[in-house]
Amino acid sequence: MTFADDSILVFLDTTPSGALAKSAAELLGAAKLVGTPVAVVVGDEKLAADAAALGAVTVLVAAPGEGLSVPAVDALTSAADEVRPDAVLVSHSIEGREVAGRFAARTRSGLAVDAVGVSRDAEGVVAHHSVYGGAYNVDAAVTWGAPVITIRQGSVDARADAVADPTVETLEVRASGRKAATVSSVEQAVVSSTRPELRGAAKVVSGGRGLGSEEKFALVEELADTLGAAVGASRAAVDAGYVPYAYQVGQTGVSVAPQLYVALGISGAIQHKAGMQTAKTIVAINKDADAPIFEIADFGVVGDLFQVVPQLIAALEAKKA
Ligand code: FAD
Repeated sequence: MTFADDSILVFLDTTPSGALAKSAAELLGAAKLVGTPVAVVVGDEKLAADAAALGAVTVLVAAPGEGLSVPAVDALTSAADEVRPDAVLVSHSIEGREVAGRFAARTRSGLAVDAVGVSRDAEGVVAHHSVYGGAYNVDAAVTWGAPVITIRQGSVDARADAVADPTVETLEVRASGRKAATVSSVEQAVVSSTRPELRGAAKVVSGGRGLGSEEKFALVEELADTLGAAVGASRAAVDAGYVPYAYQVGQTGVSVAPQLYVALGISGAIQHKAGMQTAKTIVAINKDADAPIFEIADFGVVGDLFQVVPQLIAALEAKKA
């Protein structure tokens, strides 16, 4: 089988239920910006049609193997040998990071992590990063071979057109025989919320120490539900016990890059900005006009959030009605 000279190999995560992860659309969109997207999926052949609908010109389907990560890295290694891509794109998800790191180490490739975009110059594919709390934009390129790039979830807007007649091939995977952790039992966590997941959400409403208590943090959730947004928090809010650590946005929490980020009672410390500064539109409500969050906000309201937010919710509800 032959592949385009500008092939970009895209490893697509799958969910525990066997569907393509949400990150697939932006990974293939990013690949299309710099070359011809060739997808690698580990799982069912049916996933090939889903990958093609998101822009994969060729889909290489590998049968699932035993153990965590190693079968995926074996599949990616076999695919890279066959395709000889100009770059390998992987989601910056928990699984994606592990696959990318192991693959780069195994193939002695250069690894660029947590990119927020990709482009191509005369020498190859370049990864774009937002670092030091979004204060600097950095470009990274490798000097040898194809770069392995993990893409921050929600950071790429580009989407590729659906491919009507994709080439689908079963990938012959050479098992490396490397040791892999195995899963002995799986318990499905009961999802008690209909809110979007924080990682990869299109809209996020976050609350900080300014909320004052766990009970009052409910106002953040109320606004989030009105907007159909995920809920996030600052570390101060997490440390104070208003919400669990899983909600923390920032350097030592989750990095998000939503279309809309609403910060309520958050001062905008550099460690918080590190996890949200690449949001497309930032709205801040804070009673301190000098709070650093206003330096990066597109829209800001200086005021008491307990007065402003209920009015905002009422206005949004009225608009919906
Ligand atoms: P504060 O800084 O106390 O700000 C509260 C804000 O609420 C103030 O601006 C105040 O004016 C406003 N406010 C109060 N009442 C009201 C009201 N009624 N209406 C409107 N506004 C009001 N932080 C993170 O968020 N994420 C991280 O991942 C993270 N990692 C860190 C890692 C390290 C190594 C370190 C040292 C720190 C880290 N931090 C992180 C902590 C960070 O430095 C800040 O302490 C934290 O972000 C502050 O949270 P905050 O903005 O909620 O609280």
